[in-house]
Amino acid sequence: MKKLVYLFGPERTEGSGKMKALLGGKGANLAEMARLGLPVPPGFTIATTVCVHYLKAHRLPQALKSEVRRGLRFIEQSTGKRFGDVDNPLLLSVRSGARASMPGMMDTVLNLGLNDEITAGLARKTNNRRFALDAYRRLIQMFGDVVLKTGREEFEAELSAARTRLGVKTDIELDEAALENIVQRFKAIVREKTGTEFPQNPDEQLWLAIDAVLKSWNNPRAGEYRRLYNIPDDWGTAVNVQAMVFGNLGSDSATGVLFTRDPATGEKSLYCEYLPNAQGEDIVAGIRTPLPALTLKQELPEIYEQLEKIARRLERHYRDMMDVEWTVEQGKLYILQCRVGKRSPQAAVKIAVDMARERLITRAEAVRRIDPEKVSALLHHRLSPDASYQVAARGIPASPGAASGEIVFSAVKAVAEAQAGKKVILVRHQTSADDVAGMAKAEGILTAAGGTTSHAAVVARGMGKPAVVGCSELVIDYEAGTLKIGGQMLRAGDVITIDGTSGNVIIGPVKMEPPQLTEEFATILAWADRFRRLKVRTNADTPADAQKAREFGAEGIGLCRTEHMFFAPDRVGVMQEMILAEDEAGRKQALDRLLPMQRQDFVEIFRVMDGLPVTIRTLDPPLHEFLPREDEKISQLASRLGITAEKIRTTIEKLAEANPMLGFRGCRLGIVYPEITAMQARAIFEAACQVQQEGVRVLPEIMIPLVSDVEEFIRQRRLIEQVAEQVFAETGVRVRFTVGTMIEVPRAALLGDEIGRVAEFFSFGTNDLTQLTYAYSRDDYGRFFTAYQHLGIVQDNPFDTLDTRGVGMLMKWCVKAGRRTNPKLKLGICGEHGGDPRTIRFCHEIGLDYVSCSPFRVPVARLVAAQAALGATERKDG
Ligand code: PEP
Ligand code: MG
Repeated sequence: MKKLVYLFGPERTEGSGKMKALLGGKGANLAEMARLGLPVPPGFTIATTVCVHYLKAHRLPQALKSEVRRGLRFIEQSTGKRFGDVDNPLLLSVRSGARASMPGMMDTVLNLGLNDEITAGLARKTNNRRFALDAYRRLIQMFGDVVLKTGREEFEAELSAARTRLGVKTDIELDEAALENIVQRFKAIVREKTGTEFPQNPDEQLWLAIDAVLKSWNNPRAGEYRRLYNIPDDWGTAVNVQAMVFGNLGSDSATGVLFTRDPATGEKSLYCEYLPNAQGEDIVAGIRTPLPALTLKQELPEIYEQLEKIARRLERHYRDMMDVEWTVEQGKLYILQCRVGKRSPQAAVKIAVDMARERLITRAEAVRRIDPEKVSALLHHRLSPDASYQVAARGIPASPGAASGEIVFSAVKAVAEAQAGKKVILVRHQTSADDVAGMAKAEGILTAAGGTTSHAAVVARGMGKPAVVGCSELVIDYEAGTLKIGGQMLRAGDVITIDGTSGNVIIGPVKMEPPQLTEEFATILAWADRFRRLKVRTNADTPADAQKAREFGAEGIGLCRTEHMFFAPDRVGVMQEMILAEDEAGRKQALDRLLPMQRQDFVEIFRVMDGLPVTIRTLDPPLHEFLPREDEKISQLASRLGITAEKIRTTIEKLAEANPMLGFRGCRLGIVYPEITAMQARAIFEAACQVQQEGVRVLPEIMIPLVSDVEEFIRQRRLIEQVAEQVFAETGVRVRFTVGTMIEVPRAALLGDEIGRVAEFFSFGTNDLTQLTYAYSRDDYGRFFTAYQHLGIVQDNPFDTLDTRGVGMLMKWCVKAGRRTNPKLKLGICGEHGGDPRTIRFCHEIGLDYVSCSPFRVPVARLVAAQAALGATERKDG
C-alpha cells in the first residue's frame, strides 16, 4: 500500500482538493483550504484505502501505526500542545469523511485525549473548570455511544434530569457542580454498560475511535443512504484526525455554519447560523435555536467580516456555493470544514444562472450542474393564492413547495403508509439519519426543532421535498400518537398541509396550484436548448395539455392517443353504438357521428401546435373497455339503443378476451374494421385542411399502433393515403403529412429494416415493448414485482426507467435496421420512459431524434437532453 496518512495545516499540506477519492470530500477540502491559507486547525487524513483494506482483511495495515505517530507529532508541533500531556493537553477530533457527502451517516468523536487527570489539567490551563468538565462529559458521551456502543439514551436522560434539578433549559446553564456529578454518572453508565472503565489512556482512545469510524462505513444507516444515492459500497471512508478548537470557551467563542449563498432561495447573501459559547454538535442537534447572520454582524463584526472574505475566496476558488463550518475560539476564527453546499432545487437553478452571469462558470457548466431529478421539484405544487386557510403554526421554511398528507410519526410508518398508496407528512421532533428512508417516501417533513441547517432541513432540500422545521409550537407525543398544534389535538392519520416556502403549517388540506417557471429556470432551459440535439415533444390528448406543454417548451406532440378522446361522457355512448353495431352500415352511422367530434379536437390541437409536428395515433383500445359492466348501466344503454340488455351482454361476452393486452387492439382494429381508420384519417385531414386555410402551419404525422408485421402497416398506410386524396380533392387544399408506426412489439423491432422501407417514422412505444419483452403484464406486474425487488432480482422498475440492456437492445437493433433501409427515417420514443432522465440519456446515445413525455416532464427532458449532449457526469455532492 502507498502512503496512508496525509498531513494538512498552516505549516504543511500533503493532499489537495483533487484527491477526493483518496482523502474523502472532507479531507480533500481541508487540504485545499490549508493550501489556500485559510485558518484550518492542523490535522491529518487517513486515506480511504485504509478503510477498504480494513473491511476486507479485518486488520489495519502495519505501516499505519508509524504514519499516525508522524501525524500526531505534526499536530503537536503545529499547536505547541501535546496529546496526553496533563499541563498542556492537545485534544483531537476524529471524523469520518467519504468521497461523496453522506451527512450524519457515519461516526465522529470529539474531545479525544481527556481523562480524569488531563481534565483537571485543562481546567487549570484554561482557568475554566466548567469548560473542562463539559468537554470531558461530551467525550464520554460520544465515545460511549460511537465506540463503546452504550447507546445515547441514558446519557441524555442523565442530562435531562440534571437540567430539571437545576430548573434550567439548556446544557450550557449546567454549572460546575452539576457537570462534576454528570461526569461521574457518565463514567458509571460506561462501567455498567460495558463492564469496563472509560479508557484513561489517550492513545487507546485514539485507536479505538479510528477503528469505530472505519467500521461505521458499514453501519446499516450508511448502507441505506448509499443505496438511496447510488454510492458504491467499496469506496470506504477516510478518517480525519484534527486538533480541536473550542467554540464553548466563553462569550468570545462561538460555532456556526455558513453558506456562501442562501441554500433555500439561492439569493446571493451570506447565510449563517451560529450559537455563541457552543460546540458544533449543538447546532446540528437542533436543541438550541441558532442565531442568524444579522446578529453575528452586530455581535462579532470582525468575525463576520473575515467570514465574508473567506466566503468570497472559497466561491472564487471552488466556483460553487459552499457550506462552511467555523468556530471562534476566544476571538480567533477557525475553519473546520467546507464542502459544496446542498441546496434546494430552486436555489440550485438560481445559483447556477447567477454564477454563469457573474462569469464564475460557463453556461454549459450551469446546465450540467442542475440535477434533473431534483429540479422537477420546481414543478411542485404551491398553495393557491386564492385559497383561504388558517395558519395553525409557523416554523422555519426549510425546503420550498407545499404538500398535504396524513400525519405519521415515524419513518417506518411513513414507508408503510406510502406503500399502501397514502400521501403522508412525516412529523418528528427532529430527524436523524435513521429517518431518511421515511423522508424519501413522505410528501413533506415537519419538525418541532432545528434550524435550516438541521438534518431534516438538509435532507429534505436534497430530496426536493417541502419541509418546515423548528416549529416550536408543536407538541408531539409519540407514545400517544398525538400532535398538539394551535390549541388543537390531532392524531396520526389526520391531514395537515405544510408550506416549505413560508413555513406555515395548516390543519387540513389546502387548494394547491401548479408551479410556475421562474425567470432563472426559464433561462437555464433556454441555455439547455442550445446544447441539446434531441428534440423534446409531449404526449397530449387535449388542446389544454398541448397548450401547457407548449408553454413548457415542447416542440411538438409525440403521441396523441385518440382513444382518450372518446372517454368523455358525451362521446362514450356513440363509441358504444359503433362497437355494438351489427354490420358495417351500422358502424359507419356511428362513425359519422364521431367524425365531427374528432375533427374539432384536431382543429384545436393543430391551432395550439401551430408550426410544430403533431403525431396522431389511430385507435388503440381493447374494445370492451368502452362497454358498461354493471347491470344498471347495461339496461340504460339497451334502452337508449332500442335493443335488449341480453344482446348487449352477449356482445360484451363475445368481446371479452383472456389477454386483452394481446388481443383485438392496436392496428388490428383498423385492419378488421377499415372504416374506423378511414373515419379518423378523414377527421385529421379535414381538420388539417381547415386550419391550413386559416394560416396555421400544420404538420400531421399519422401513427399506426401495435404493428407486428409490415403488411399491417402497408394496408393502413394505403387506406390513409386514399382518404387523404379524397379530402384534398373535396377541399381543394393539400396538406403535407407523414405516416409512421409505433415500435412496441418485439417482432416489429427485429424487422425494423422491412418496416423502415415503407414508414417515414418510428416511435418506440416502450410501455408495450417493455411489457412484451419481459412478458410482465403492464396491469398486473405489481403482484410479484415488489417481491422481486426485495429478492434483489430486479432493482429499477422497467416501466419507470428503461431496461437499456434488454428492451434497449431491441431499440438499438431497430434503429440500425430502420436507418439502413431508410436513412431519412425519423425516430422517437413516446412510452412513459420518454420523461425519465436515464432513459433520455440512452435515447441520446442511440441517436433518436426526439423524446416525447407528459407536459410536466418537458422542462426536465430539455435539461437532460442538453446534459446528455454535454456528456455530463452525475454530481453526487451538489
Ligand atoms: C406504449 O406502449 O409505449 C405507448 C406509448 O402506448 P400505450 O401506452 O398507449 O399502449
Ligand atoms: Mg402501446
